[in-house]
Amino acid sequence: MPQATGDKMAGIPNHPSDPIPETVTLSADRIWLSASWADGRQVRLTANSLRAACRCATCTRARIDGLPAQESEMRITAIHPHGPNVGRLTFSDGHDRGLYPWTWLLELGATPPEYRS
Ligand SMILES: [Zn+2]
Repeated sequence: MPQATGDKMAGIPNHPSDPIPETVTLSADRIWLSASWADGRQVRLTANSLRAACRCATCTRARIDGLPAQESEMRITAIHPHGPNVGRLTFSDGHDRGLYPWTWLLELGATPPEYRS
C-alpha cells in the first residue's frame, strides 16, 4: 500500500489572488489613474470616482450622514505605496486616508456604467 509522501514542501501558489500591477500611473492633469497587470488587465479610473469610493471611516460616516463631499474636479496629488498590494491616495481636497487595494480598482473599473448590460 503506497504511503502519502510526508517530505514535500508546501508549494507557493502560482496564481496569487492579489496580483501586483506592473504599472500604476497618473495622467498629466492628475484626473485619471491607470493601472495595468502582467496578464493584460487594465483599468482607468477618475479621481472623482476613486474619491467617491473611499472606504475610510470618515468617508463611510459622511455617506451615512448624506454629506456631499466632493470637489467637482477632483485630482490625485500623490500615490503612496502601502505594502505591495495597496495604494494610499492623496486627493486635491487634502483627503489622504483612503486605502485602495490594487485589485479593488479592477472591480471598480470593470463595469463602467455606459457599458453595463
Ligand atoms: Zn476617505
